[in-house]
Amino acid sequence: MKCITKSWPAVIPLGFVLGLLLAFSGFAAKGFSDGPVGFTGAFIQGGLVIGKTKPGSEVYFEGNRIQISDDGLFVFGFSRDAGDTAELKISLPDGKILVETLIVSAQDYHIERIEGLPPATVNIPPEQLQRQRHERGMVASARAVQSDLLEWRFEFILPAEGRISGVYGSQRILNGEPRSPHYGLDVAAPIHTPVIAPLGGIITLAEPDFLLEGGIIIIDHGFGVSSTVFHLQSVDVIVGKSVQKGEKIGTIGATGRASGPHVDWRVNWGKVRLDPGLLVGLQ
Ligand SMILES: [Zn+2]
Repeated sequence: MKCITKSWPAVIPLGFVLGLLLAFSGFAAKGFSDGPVGFTGAFIQGGLVIGKTKPGSEVYFEGNRIQISDDGLFVFGFSRDAGDTAELKISLPDGKILVETLIVSAQDYHIERIEGLPPATVNIPPEQLQRQRHERGMVASARAVQSDLLEWRFEFILPAEGRISGVYGSQRILNGEPRSPHYGLDVAAPIHTPVIAPLGGIITLAEPDFLLEGGIIIIDHGFGVSSTVFHLQSVDVIVGKSVQKGEKIGTIGATGRASGPHVDWRVNWGKVRLDPGLLVGLQ
């Protein structure tokens, strides 16, 4: 544990201890600890953490002010390659400032090196590039939605029943060139298998035919937390519809650039890509 070799402050902040404990367990126990700030969640790369502090506080994660609910709840997450600490600053209603240094554990991602491949000969036509850019923009706008929904307080469920065929963070290095990591959790099942909402929310994107993703749906769970599911055969919801956790929203397909029928499920906190597997206890 490299964090132990660091010099300990005279008074160890609560978050530090909690982070350390959670780093060991990977997951938080249910419920918040007492004190001016408590956490529940995974202090690990790709992890999502829910915090609770005094209502009316201002919360800053890595220097950026983040949303807080009327009852003092807030949410943040760590990226795939997050460093080993993160700073959380809370300005309490009485004027006191708390600074928590959170310890973030590293994940061990599956990296596959493939050498000796013939050089890639893929030439993407300019009109496809333009379409891709446009569709990426639509996805980014949907994920940028910052609503007051509080669905992120509840536990996620898998978007489909099936075999886990791909995990978050994995990466291929082809001829020494790292490809973009895989950020989704893939669930493989036959075409037409129902795809359900992993959590409640509002549909912010519902498109039947994106170039790479095929049929795609994005659900806003509030406070910047969203789910994206794609390669869908059918998209059975429209933008603006409110969905319950577990409600059918589409079906599994192999649309877009998919090697076989599966649903690729991604979870974001704004632009930060989280590990869906952690959220459903796969690890
Ligand atoms: Zn995938």
